[in-house]
This record gives sequence, C-alpha cells and structure tokens, in this order.
Amino acid sequence: MTIASLTSRIDSIRQQLPASVRLIAVSKQVSAEFVREAYNCGVRDFGESRIQEAAEKQSQLQDLPDINWHLIGHLQANKAAKALEQFQWIHSLDSLKLATRLSRLAGEMSCSPQVCLQVKILPDPDKYGWSVPELLADLRELDECQHLKIQGLMTIPPLGLDDSQILDFFNSTRELADKIKQQNLQHIQMQQLSMGMSGDYHLAIQAGATMIRLGQTLFGSR
Ligand SMILES: *Cc1c(COP(=O)(O)O)cnc(C)c1O
Repeated sequence: MTIASLTSRIDSIRQQLPASVRLIAVSKQVSAEFVREAYNCGVRDFGESRIQEAAEKQSQLQDLPDINWHLIGHLQANKAAKALEQFQWIHSLDSLKLATRLSRLAGEMSCSPQVCLQVKILPDPDKYGWSVPELLADLRELDECQHLKIQGLMTIPPLGLDDSQILDFFNSTRELADKIKQQNLQHIQMQQLSMGMSGDYHLAIQAGATMIRLGQTLFGSR
C-alpha cells in the first residue's frame, strides 16, 4: 500500500458516495502516518476498534484539530471513561448497563457523546448487541440516558449471507429504526444508520445507510 494508491482509493470511493452518506475510514491496524495521509485527502472521520491502539495514534495526530474519532468495537465497562475522552462517536453501544454507565460518566465529565445502538437483526452468537425484542424492551430506559445523544442504529450482518439476504438484513435495520422513530421518545433520535463495510457497503447504501465503515477498501488488506 502506497500513499498514491491510498489517495486514489479515497477519491474513487468518495465519487461513488451519495452526499447523504458519511464515510468512516476504519484505521485499525493502520499507522498514524496513513491516517494523516487520509486526512490530507479530506477524510475527517476515523473508526477504531480498540481504546489503547486508538490512544497511541491520537497522540501522534494531536495537531489535526478537526478529526472525529468513532469507536466501532466492543467497549468494556472499565474503559468507558477513556472512551469518552477519546471518541466523539460510539457506534458500538451494546447494552443498557453500558449505556447507563456511559451516561452517568458523561454527565460527570460534562460531555455528550453521539452514540448508535448496536443491534442484531438476526441471531448471531459471535457478536455483541441487542436482539430486536431486547432493544424494544430497553428503549424507555435508554431514553432516560440524558447525557447520551442516541442518534441511530449500528449493525453488522452475520457471516455466510448472500447479497439478497444482506440487503434484506439492512432493510430490516432501517425498518426497525423507523419503528423506533414512531414511538416518539424524547431523547432518542433515529436519523443515523451505521451499516456497511468493505464487502457490503453498496448494499447498505441501497438500504439507506447514512454512515459506512470502510477499512480494507481504503487502506488495503490487514
Ligand atoms: C473492522 C471493522 C470494519 C471495517 O471492515 P472492512 O472489512 O475492513 O471494511 C467496520 N466495522 C467494524 C465494526 C469493524 O470491526
């Protein structure tokens, strides 16, 4: 992977994207140097899975003031305060217990992170997140997490689906967001759908994704 090829990959992806879709460049296992190059190409949103790895890169990139860091990996409760210090967005909020804790800490730290609720539209023992019935049952209490800006849903399809099944999966996620919108909860917003990775982002966009999370398509294989 060279800097020239990074630049051309970023340009070609951006040309394909509708204006309504925000590109999150997933920089896990990518050096700070390449993150800086992507920044120089105009990318401002970067996704990381691990708090510690992100911290090391962030310390090398402190001179880039307007980067938005997005946490996309599972957050352990004992790292919640660090996550609030380091990330503007948390896509991987995956339980009521974590939400309650994050909201309390955010209040103490006077911040208000933007978050997505990670949901599993199909059963998937390999992933974190709410099942649909669990999420519907927790909404009222999530709405009381007043220091969190709950903006929408995040999802990852299980392995082994074909394209039409993946499209159905993403469409069902959008329909779930619509259903939650209709409940008119006080704080919970449902404008964002964080879905689509290198292998399936075309399908996600077709189904209404507003944020896609691309790693290998931009930075090459890990
Ligand atoms: C790694 C990762 C991505 C990016 O995956 P690619 O296949 O490299 O595009 C997106 N979302 C999450 C949650 C990830 O862990």
